[in-house]
Amino acid sequence: MVVKLGSIQNTAYKVLLEIQSVGICGSDIHYWKNGRIGDFIVKEPMIVGHESSGKVVKIGKSVQHLKEGDRVAIEPGVPCGKCEFCKKGSYNICPDIKFCATPPYDGSLCRYYCHDADYCFKLPDNVSYDEGAMIEPLSVALYGCKRSGVTAGKSVLICGTGPIGLLNILVCKAMGVSKICVTDISENRLSFAQALGVKSIVCVKNMEIEAVMKEVIARFGGQPDITLECSGAEPSVKLGLKVTKPGGVLMLIGLKALEIKIPIIEATIREVDIRGIFRYVNCYPTALELVSSGAVNLKPLITHHFTLEESIKAFETSHTGAGGALKVMIHCGK
Ligand SMILES: [Zn+2]
Ligand SMILES: [Zn+2]
Repeated sequence: MVVKLGSIQNTAYKVLLEIQSVGICGSDIHYWKNGRIGDFIVKEPMIVGHESSGKVVKIGKSVQHLKEGDRVAIEPGVPCGKCEFCKKGSYNICPDIKFCATPPYDGSLCRYYCHDADYCFKLPDNVSYDEGAMIEPLSVALYGCKRSGVTAGKSVLICGTGPIGLLNILVCKAMGVSKICVTDISENRLSFAQALGVKSIVCVKNMEIEAVMKEVIARFGGQPDITLECSGAEPSVKLGLKVTKPGGVLMLIGLKALEIKIPIIEATIREVDIRGIFRYVNCYPTALELVSSGAVNLKPLITHHFTLEESIKAFETSHTGAGGALKVMIHCGK
Protein backbone atom coordinates (compact mmCIF):
# COMPACT_ATOMS: atom_id res chain seq x y z
CA MET A 1 0.00 0.00 0.00
CA VAL A 2 1.43 3.38 -1.01
CA VAL A 3 1.57 6.11 1.61
CA LYS A 4 1.40 9.44 -0.19
CA LEU A 5 4.18 11.87 0.59
CA GLY A 6 1.82 14.62 1.71
CA SER A 7 0.41 12.46 4.42
CA ILE A 8 3.78 11.77 6.07
CA GLN A 9 5.00 15.34 6.36
CA ASN A 10 5.45 16.72 9.90
CA THR A 11 5.66 13.24 11.31
CA ALA A 12 6.52 14.54 14.80
CA TYR A 13 2.85 14.70 15.74
CA LYS A 14 1.75 11.66 13.77
CA VAL A 15 1.42 7.97 14.38
CA LEU A 16 1.74 5.09 11.98
CA LEU A 17 -1.16 2.72 12.39
CA GLU A 18 -1.71 -0.86 11.42
CA ILE A 19 -5.34 -0.64 10.39
CA GLN A 20 -7.59 -3.29 11.96
CA SER A 21 -11.30 -2.77 11.30
CA VAL A 22 -12.95 -0.52 8.71
CA GLY A 23 -16.72 -0.14 8.54
CA ILE A 24 -18.33 0.61 5.19
CA CYS A 25 -20.35 3.83 5.14
CA GLY A 26 -22.98 5.05 2.68
CA SER A 27 -20.57 7.74 1.56
CA ASP A 28 -17.96 5.13 0.60
CA ILE A 29 -20.62 3.44 -1.51
CA HIS A 30 -21.49 6.79 -3.13
CA TYR A 31 -17.88 7.46 -4.11
CA TRP A 32 -17.56 3.92 -5.41
CA LYS A 33 -20.77 3.98 -7.46
CA ASN A 34 -21.14 7.66 -8.43
CA GLY A 35 -17.66 9.11 -8.00
CA ARG A 36 -19.02 12.11 -6.14
CA ILE A 37 -21.06 13.47 -3.26
CA GLY A 38 -22.28 16.97 -4.07
CA ASP A 39 -19.25 19.15 -4.71
CA PHE A 40 -16.81 16.49 -3.54
CA ILE A 41 -15.73 14.85 -6.78
CA VAL A 42 -13.29 11.98 -7.16
CA LYS A 43 -10.83 13.08 -9.85
CA GLU A 44 -8.01 10.64 -9.17
CA PRO A 45 -8.00 7.13 -7.75
CA MET A 46 -8.80 7.44 -4.04
CA ILE A 47 -8.66 4.97 -1.17
CA VAL A 48 -12.03 4.83 0.59
CA GLY A 49 -12.79 4.09 4.24
CA HIS A 50 -13.13 6.45 7.19
CA GLU A 51 -14.70 4.35 9.95
CA SER A 52 -11.51 2.81 11.21
CA SER A 53 -9.58 1.51 14.15
CA GLY A 54 -5.98 0.45 14.32
CA LYS A 55 -2.90 -0.44 16.32
CA VAL A 56 -0.11 2.08 16.81
CA VAL A 57 3.11 0.70 15.34
CA LYS A 58 5.24 3.85 15.31
CA ILE A 59 4.96 7.25 16.99
CA GLY A 60 6.32 10.65 16.02
CA LYS A 61 8.86 12.15 18.41
CA SER A 62 6.44 14.73 19.86
CA VAL A 63 3.55 12.33 20.49
CA GLN A 64 2.85 12.18 24.21
CA HIS A 65 -0.42 10.34 24.81
CA LEU A 66 0.13 7.21 22.74
CA LYS A 67 2.72 4.46 22.58
CA GLU A 68 3.49 1.57 20.27
CA GLY A 69 0.95 -1.22 20.66
CA ASP A 70 -1.91 1.05 21.72
CA ARG A 71 -5.29 0.25 20.17
CA VAL A 72 -7.07 3.35 18.87
CA ALA A 73 -10.23 4.64 17.24
CA ILE A 74 -9.32 7.01 14.41
CA GLU A 75 -11.25 10.27 14.10
CA PRO A 76 -10.94 10.73 10.34
CA GLY A 77 -11.00 14.53 10.07
CA VAL A 78 -7.95 16.64 10.86
CA PRO A 79 -8.80 20.36 10.84
CA CYS A 80 -6.36 23.26 10.35
CA GLY A 81 -6.51 24.37 13.99
CA LYS A 82 -6.02 28.01 13.03
CA CYS A 83 -9.20 29.35 11.42
CA GLU A 84 -12.07 31.08 13.23
CA PHE A 85 -14.13 27.88 13.23
CA CYS A 86 -11.36 25.75 14.69
CA LYS A 87 -10.64 28.41 17.31
CA LYS A 88 -14.22 28.48 18.53
CA GLY A 89 -14.36 24.70 18.71
CA SER A 90 -16.40 24.05 15.56
CA TYR A 91 -13.57 22.26 13.82
CA ASN A 92 -16.01 20.09 11.85
CA ILE A 93 -16.83 23.11 9.67
CA CYS A 94 -13.18 24.11 9.19
CA PRO A 95 -12.85 24.88 5.47
CA ASP A 96 -9.39 23.28 5.44
CA ILE A 97 -10.26 20.03 7.22
CA LYS A 98 -8.55 16.99 5.74
CA PHE A 99 -11.02 14.16 6.00
CA CYS A 100 -10.23 10.52 5.18
CA ALA A 101 -11.86 9.37 1.95
CA THR A 102 -13.21 12.77 1.01
CA PRO A 103 -11.48 13.79 -2.21
CA PRO A 104 -8.65 14.55 -2.64
CA TYR A 105 -7.65 12.77 0.59
CA ASP A 106 -7.16 9.04 0.76
CA GLY A 107 -9.10 7.00 3.30
CA SER A 108 -7.94 4.30 5.64
CA LEU A 109 -9.05 1.06 3.99
CA CYS A 110 -5.48 -0.19 3.77
CA ARG A 111 -2.87 -2.04 5.84
CA TYR A 112 -0.97 0.98 7.17
CA TYR A 113 -2.14 4.52 7.64
CA CYS A 114 -0.45 7.63 8.96
CA HIS A 115 -2.63 9.98 11.05
CA ASP A 116 -2.40 12.91 13.44
CA ALA A 117 -1.97 11.50 16.94
CA ASP A 118 -4.37 14.11 18.35
CA TYR A 119 -7.18 12.49 16.37
CA CYS A 120 -6.45 8.96 17.61
CA PHE A 121 -8.31 7.89 20.74
CA LYS A 122 -7.13 5.00 22.88
CA LEU A 123 -9.65 2.17 23.04
CA PRO A 124 -10.60 1.02 26.54
CA ASP A 125 -9.68 -2.66 27.04
CA ASN A 126 -13.30 -3.76 26.79
CA VAL A 127 -13.90 -2.04 23.44
CA SER A 128 -13.06 -4.14 20.37
CA TYR A 129 -11.52 -2.93 17.12
CA ASP A 130 -14.89 -3.40 15.39
CA GLU A 131 -16.57 -1.22 18.01
CA GLY A 132 -13.67 1.21 17.70
CA ALA A 133 -14.41 1.58 13.99
CA MET A 134 -18.06 2.23 14.78
CA ILE A 135 -17.19 5.15 17.05
CA GLU A 136 -17.23 7.20 13.83
CA PRO A 137 -20.90 6.70 12.87
CA LEU A 138 -21.82 6.66 16.56
CA SER A 139 -20.29 10.14 16.80
CA VAL A 140 -22.58 11.29 13.98
CA ALA A 141 -25.59 10.11 15.98
CA LEU A 142 -24.26 11.55 19.21
CA TYR A 143 -23.64 14.94 17.65
CA GLY A 144 -27.11 14.94 16.06
CA CYS A 145 -28.70 14.19 19.43
CA LYS A 146 -26.60 16.79 21.23
CA ARG A 147 -27.23 19.53 18.69
CA SER A 148 -30.98 18.93 18.71
CA GLY A 149 -31.25 18.99 22.51
CA VAL A 150 -32.13 15.34 23.05
CA THR A 151 -32.39 14.64 26.76
CA ALA A 152 -34.46 12.57 29.20
CA GLY A 153 -38.11 13.53 29.09
CA LYS A 154 -38.16 14.57 25.42
CA SER A 155 -40.24 12.75 22.84
CA VAL A 156 -38.21 11.90 19.76
CA LEU A 157 -39.32 10.84 16.29
CA ILE A 158 -36.60 9.06 14.34
CA CYS A 159 -37.13 8.73 10.58
CA GLY A 160 -35.13 6.03 8.85
CA THR A 161 -33.62 2.85 10.22
CA GLY A 162 -30.33 2.57 8.35
CA PRO A 163 -27.23 2.35 10.53
CA ILE A 164 -27.40 6.07 11.42
CA GLY A 165 -31.08 5.87 12.39
CA LEU A 166 -30.40 2.81 14.53
CA LEU A 167 -27.42 4.49 16.17
CA ASN A 168 -29.64 7.47 16.97
CA ILE A 169 -32.05 5.09 18.68
CA LEU A 170 -29.18 3.75 20.80
CA VAL A 171 -27.96 7.25 21.72
CA CYS A 172 -31.48 8.46 22.59
CA LYS A 173 -31.95 5.46 24.87
CA ALA A 174 -28.55 6.04 26.47
CA MET A 175 -29.57 9.66 27.09
CA GLY A 176 -32.63 8.48 28.95
CA VAL A 177 -35.26 9.14 26.28
CA SER A 178 -38.22 6.84 26.81
CA LYS A 179 -40.63 8.18 24.21
CA ILE A 180 -39.25 7.12 20.83
CA CYS A 181 -41.19 6.46 17.63
CA VAL A 182 -39.45 5.23 14.49
CA THR A 183 -40.58 5.36 10.86
CA ASP A 184 -39.31 3.65 7.72
CA ILE A 185 -40.70 2.28 4.48
CA SER A 186 -39.22 -1.17 5.15
CA GLU A 187 -40.83 -3.57 7.60
CA ASN A 188 -37.56 -5.49 7.62
CA ARG A 189 -35.55 -2.50 8.71
CA LEU A 190 -38.14 -1.57 11.31
CA SER A 191 -37.71 -4.99 12.86
CA PHE A 192 -34.09 -4.00 13.62
CA ALA A 193 -35.43 -0.99 15.53
CA GLN A 194 -37.79 -3.28 17.38
CA ALA A 195 -34.92 -5.59 18.25
CA LEU A 196 -33.17 -2.60 19.83
CA GLY A 197 -36.15 -2.15 22.12
CA VAL A 198 -38.25 0.46 20.28
CA LYS A 199 -41.91 -0.24 20.95
CA SER A 200 -43.43 2.28 18.58
CA ILE A 201 -42.64 1.69 14.92
CA VAL A 202 -44.61 2.95 11.90
CA CYS A 203 -44.19 1.53 8.40
CA VAL A 204 -44.91 4.55 6.21
CA LYS A 205 -44.84 2.76 2.87
CA ASN A 206 -47.66 4.03 0.62
CA MET A 207 -48.97 6.31 3.37
CA GLU A 208 -49.89 9.98 2.82
CA ILE A 209 -48.04 12.45 5.04
CA GLU A 210 -51.28 13.48 6.80
CA ALA A 211 -51.97 9.86 7.74
CA VAL A 212 -48.42 9.40 9.03
CA MET A 213 -48.76 12.61 11.08
CA LYS A 214 -51.95 11.34 12.67
CA GLU A 215 -50.37 8.01 13.47
CA VAL A 216 -47.23 9.55 14.97
CA ILE A 217 -49.25 11.96 17.12
CA ALA A 218 -51.42 9.09 18.29
CA ARG A 219 -48.36 7.05 19.23
CA PHE A 220 -46.79 9.87 21.28
CA GLY A 221 -50.08 11.17 22.62
CA GLY A 222 -49.05 14.53 21.11
CA GLN A 223 -46.45 16.00 18.79
CA PRO A 224 -42.80 15.02 19.22
CA ASP A 225 -40.38 17.57 20.68
CA ILE A 226 -37.64 16.58 18.27
CA THR A 227 -37.50 14.84 14.90
CA LEU A 228 -34.21 13.22 13.92
CA GLU A 229 -34.42 12.81 10.16
CA CYS A 230 -32.04 10.00 9.21
CA SER A 231 -33.55 8.81 5.91
CA GLY A 232 -32.81 11.74 3.62
CA ALA A 233 -36.17 11.15 1.91
CA GLU A 234 -38.13 14.28 0.95
CA PRO A 235 -41.48 13.06 2.37
CA SER A 236 -39.74 12.34 5.61
CA VAL A 237 -38.27 15.86 5.86
CA LYS A 238 -41.76 17.23 5.14
CA LEU A 239 -43.20 15.03 7.84
CA GLY A 240 -40.62 16.20 10.34
CA LEU A 241 -41.32 19.84 9.61
CA LYS A 242 -45.08 19.39 9.94
CA VAL A 243 -45.31 16.97 12.85
CA THR A 244 -42.69 18.41 15.22
CA LYS A 245 -44.11 20.38 18.15
CA PRO A 246 -44.17 24.20 17.83
CA GLY A 247 -40.82 25.42 19.11
CA GLY A 248 -39.31 21.99 18.49
CA VAL A 249 -36.35 20.91 16.40
CA LEU A 250 -36.12 19.14 13.07
CA MET A 251 -32.59 17.76 12.81
CA LEU A 252 -31.41 16.83 9.34
CA ILE A 253 -28.95 13.98 9.74
CA GLY A 254 -29.56 11.91 6.62
CA LEU A 255 -30.09 14.61 4.02
CA LYS A 256 -27.87 14.34 0.97
CA ALA A 257 -30.01 15.92 -1.79
CA LEU A 258 -28.88 19.36 -2.90
CA GLU A 259 -32.43 20.69 -3.00
CA ILE A 260 -35.83 19.49 -1.88
CA LYS A 261 -39.29 21.00 -1.62
CA ILE A 262 -40.55 21.53 1.92
CA PRO A 263 -43.42 23.46 3.57
CA ILE A 264 -41.03 26.09 4.94
CA ILE A 265 -43.87 28.17 6.40
CA GLU A 266 -43.96 25.65 9.27
CA ALA A 267 -40.56 26.95 10.36
CA THR A 268 -42.01 30.46 10.57
CA ILE A 269 -45.48 30.12 11.97
CA ARG A 270 -44.66 27.31 14.40
CA GLU A 271 -41.01 28.14 15.10
CA VAL A 272 -39.77 24.69 14.25
CA ASP A 273 -36.00 25.02 14.09
CA ILE A 274 -34.43 23.26 11.13
CA ARG A 275 -30.88 22.27 11.97
CA GLY A 276 -28.24 20.36 10.10
CA ILE A 277 -25.12 18.58 11.23
CA PHE A 278 -21.88 18.12 9.38
CA ARG A 279 -20.12 15.04 10.73
CA TYR A 280 -19.39 15.72 14.45
CA VAL A 281 -17.22 17.73 16.75
CA ASN A 282 -15.60 16.67 20.05
CA CYS A 283 -17.68 13.49 20.18
CA TYR A 284 -15.14 10.65 20.20
CA PRO A 285 -14.40 10.65 23.96
CA THR A 286 -18.10 10.57 24.88
CA ALA A 287 -18.90 7.96 22.22
CA LEU A 288 -16.12 5.75 23.56
CA GLU A 289 -17.44 6.14 27.08
CA LEU A 290 -20.98 5.23 26.00
CA VAL A 291 -19.69 1.99 24.49
CA SER A 292 -17.18 1.13 27.20
CA SER A 293 -19.73 1.69 29.99
CA GLY A 294 -22.29 -0.50 28.25
CA ALA A 295 -24.75 2.37 27.79
CA VAL A 296 -24.61 1.74 24.03
CA ASN A 297 -24.24 -1.77 22.62
CA LEU A 298 -22.96 -1.60 19.04
CA LYS A 299 -22.58 -5.33 18.54
CA PRO A 300 -26.04 -6.10 17.08
CA LEU A 301 -25.39 -3.58 14.29
CA ILE A 302 -22.21 -5.28 13.05
CA THR A 303 -23.61 -7.98 10.82
CA HIS A 304 -20.95 -8.94 8.25
CA HIS A 305 -17.19 -9.46 8.20
CA PHE A 306 -14.72 -9.61 5.32
CA THR A 307 -10.97 -9.50 4.84
CA LEU A 308 -9.22 -6.67 2.98
CA GLU A 309 -8.82 -8.98 -0.01
CA GLU A 310 -12.60 -9.49 -0.05
CA SER A 311 -13.33 -5.75 -0.14
CA ILE A 312 -15.34 -5.85 -3.38
CA LYS A 313 -17.61 -8.51 -1.89
CA ALA A 314 -17.89 -6.43 1.27
CA PHE A 315 -18.94 -3.36 -0.72
CA GLU A 316 -21.48 -5.32 -2.72
CA THR A 317 -22.95 -6.75 0.47
CA SER A 318 -23.20 -3.30 2.02
CA HIS A 319 -24.67 -1.82 -1.17
CA THR A 320 -27.37 -4.44 -1.68
CA GLY A 321 -28.03 -5.09 2.00
CA ALA A 322 -27.82 -8.80 1.17
CA GLY A 323 -28.38 -11.13 4.09
CA GLY A 324 -29.78 -8.31 6.23
CA ALA A 325 -26.48 -6.42 6.10
CA LEU A 326 -26.35 -3.39 8.37
CA LYS A 327 -22.75 -2.53 9.19
CA VAL A 328 -20.25 -4.41 7.09
CA MET A 329 -16.75 -4.63 8.57
CA ILE A 330 -13.52 -5.15 6.65
CA HIS A 331 -10.59 -6.58 8.59
CA CYS A 332 -7.27 -5.25 7.41
CA GLY A 333 -4.96 -7.02 9.84
CA LYS A 334 -3.02 -9.97 8.44
ZN1 LIG B 1 -19.43 7.54 7.46
ZN1 LIG C 1 -9.71 25.36 10.69
